[in-house]
Amino acid sequence: MHTLPPDTHTHTALCKHARGGIADYVRAAQQNGLAGITFADHCPAPDGYDPQHRMVIEQFDGYRRGVLDAREQAAPFPVGFGIEADYYEGGTDFLRNWLPRRQFDLVIGSVHYIGDWGFDNPANRTQWKTVDITAAWRRYFELVGRLADTGLYQVVGHLDLPKKFGFRPADPDLREMAAPALDRIAAAGMAVELNTSGLHKEAREMYPSPLLLAMLRERDIPICFGSDAHAPEEVGRAFGEAIRAAREAGYTRYASFPPCSPPGTLLPLPA
Ligand code: ZN
Ligand code: FE
Ligand code: FE
Ligand code: ZN
Repeated sequence: MHTLPPDTHTHTALCKHARGGIADYVRAAQQNGLAGITFADHCPAPDGYDPQHRMVIEQFDGYRRGVLDAREQAAPFPVGFGIEADYYEGGTDFLRNWLPRRQFDLVIGSVHYIGDWGFDNPANRTQWKTVDITAAWRRYFELVGRLADTGLYQVVGHLDLPKKFGFRPADPDLREMAAPALDRIAAAGMAVELNTSGLHKEAREMYPSPLLLAMLRERDIPICFGSDAHAPEEVGRAFGEAIRAAREAGYTRYASFPPCSPPGTLLPLPA
């Protein structure tokens, strides 16, 4: 049996919209034949940003201790201590000071807001029917470009998240608006995750789409694999399909992170 790549994007009940404790996710990763698991729960934000989807900062030490205890108990199975930190206007000052002191194994950078619109929140779905879809996506990719420019993150989370509910721009527009953001991601030396959660949303497709994955490949941007699990049974979900998609785009290797290997180590994709 081939070991599947580590799942580098999983949540826990701490974020208020996921189910299961740290040990449950680790057990699922072991049972599903993954090479490791990294927790990337939603980063606390002391400025009141999006409080309903994240731990409060006072809970952070408990999160850290929980992950490190699980690592000790699961050894030698690799358990990574990561975070999914949002990029949003006004949030960077805090992150620039706070993130580097936390010794994360992995920092995923995500954009969940365009201005004050939490565009991937099911509660705000109808707003997609009132906006210029192409213009919204354009603003989104501009934010992703700025995310890359900060140098704070190692991996871009769910690269084309605005498609979650199925609202998409035309391919030529997408290609043209994504290109500068991808150039900035490449210049920052970042990786992009193949996030399988989109398969189970209205988008019915992983993040990123085959079109964007091909554009990543053209720029030699490394990839890793994340389920974005919000329940233990979602750990490593559809990784076989994600590996096939990576191969079809021309990838032969994926990026691996501590504690599996030094940051960004390229390992062969399993057959
Ligand atoms: Zn979440
Ligand atoms: Fe996210
Ligand atoms: Fe996530
Ligand atoms: Zn996510």
